[in-house]
Amino acid sequence: MKKTGSICRWAAGILLLLMGMTLCASSVRAGVLCLLAGVLTLPIVWKKLREVVRYPRWVAAVVPLVFFFSAMAAVPPTEASSGGTSPTALTDSAKTENMRLTAADSVLQEETPEDLVTPTPDPVNTAAPVPKESTPAGEMTVHFLDVGQGLSIFVQSGGETLIYDGGDRETSSFVVAYLKEQGVTSIDYLISSHYDSDHVAGLIGCLNAFDVKNVISSDYVHDSQTYQSFVDTVEKQGLTMQHPAVGTAFTFGDGSFTILAPAEIDADDSNNNSVAIRLVNGENSFLFTGDAESSSEAQMCRLDMDLSCDVLVPGHHGSATATSWEFLQATVPEYAVISCGSENSYGHPDKDTMDKLEAMEIQVYRTDKQGTIVATSDGTTIQWSQEPCNDYTPGDPEDTGTQAGSEALAAGSGTNAQAAGNGSQSGTQAAGNGTPAQTAGNDAQTSSETGAAESAGQSGGTQPSAEQPAVSEPSDASAGGANTVVEATPAAEEQVWVSATGSKYHKIPDCGNMNPDKARQMTRSQAEDKGLEPCKKCY
Ligand SMILES: [Zn+2]
Ligand SMILES: [Zn+2]
Repeated sequence: MKKTGSICRWAAGILLLLMGMTLCASSVRAGVLCLLAGVLTLPIVWKKLREVVRYPRWVAAVVPLVFFFSAMAAVPPTEASSGGTSPTALTDSAKTENMRLTAADSVLQEETPEDLVTPTPDPVNTAAPVPKESTPAGEMTVHFLDVGQGLSIFVQSGGETLIYDGGDRETSSFVVAYLKEQGVTSIDYLISSHYDSDHVAGLIGCLNAFDVKNVISSDYVHDSQTYQSFVDTVEKQGLTMQHPAVGTAFTFGDGSFTILAPAEIDADDSNNNSVAIRLVNGENSFLFTGDAESSSEAQMCRLDMDLSCDVLVPGHHGSATATSWEFLQATVPEYAVISCGSENSYGHPDKDTMDKLEAMEIQVYRTDKQGTIVATSDGTTIQWSQEPCNDYTPGDPEDTGTQAGSEALAAGSGTNAQAAGNGSQSGTQAAGNGTPAQTAGNDAQTSSETGAAESAGQSGGTQPSAEQPAVSEPSDASAGGANTVVEATPAAEEQVWVSATGSKYHKIPDCGNMNPDKARQMTRSQAEDKGLEPCKKCY
């Protein structure tokens, strides 16, 4: 009888030792306690102890149990922290349940936190922001395809694929071939920004060549054969076009993306109906706005969404009708990737856009100069397939831009302060026209002019600048002494610094833990208009 008890204790002791070792991998405290429980279960330990000190028999039974239960009690918090569930979510019964778990069970549980795996949600209804940014990100590869005068971006992450626009008809087979080269057989998200041929035509080829799971597109009808063909192909594949509302977030691979536009449909300018997205991988983010013009950009800014990004694809192939100062200041990109065809008939990218990018010291990639460009994000840093070309020359060499004095400012090695100065100068220019306009208003004005020039079949940007010498000249003259102009207007107001996402404005660009690289400058009244408050630290 005594012998059987001894064998049982040996067996239990060894089992506990094994369990302790397994537990060590997930929780050192639980593991050590379990190992102690194991050691103290072995009859030999008590035999040796008895030679040294006398103790009541029950001690030999109780002590290992105490260690065992403390070990088990140490397990739940570990699971909670690694699994992400709040410790308070564990009820008492769950705790006792946990105590009964063997070590192997608990390890298995950590590997499959089933309560956290949400059943693949219907993407249309996932309106809540996806809390993916806090989890360690995997790799996300973003390919900016050289589709000439058009746009096509292909993204891979965690085994999922996304294509944002497919370029025009002529490059459709290139896009399909490129994706096949990447081993693509299915596309999880096929996003059509809008139905202009240089964006949607190539998507038809993709719909035919790959197993497409979701089609996201803009909710308007375009009177063109390409549009009809796209709609027919989507239908033929048994798919429906989804038009998710602004703010809708989707999980994608190891990251996510959020719909930023269009908040409303513009009956007159289909470019403004572009579906814009912010693609996130860990701390890295990319912003694609299709051909959205500055009025859509202004709408995105108004909606108070997080527009900050590392990489921006300037809207409408770098046209002056997009990439407003307001939008640049809300997005604060480090890199801009311009997708346009070399020597395209529109003169894209426009000088105005390039001047702004240069003034803000945004690194530039261009598909017209560099072909296909690939960016790989590991969640914290972005690696590029090549160096930025930082070629800020416009597509049309004769394009002198509409922003008076920007050349002089840009030449003087632009800083953020100059970027803001540049912006306020545009404002001054507008004021000179009799409009007490803010930067955004001025951009809207520029855009309508340039837009008119473009639709009239003129090479973009040349026309307005030719029409505007009367306006440009005085500002040009003042370019050297921009201060005098600024001082003469009420806009000569105090400049403040604003972080990419903060709710305060600061006296200095590096207040607290603010990132000076992402800080932007604006006037104090602009900051106050945005509802920002003075920082208590520096004001
Ligand atoms: Zn386009
Ligand atoms: Zn377009």
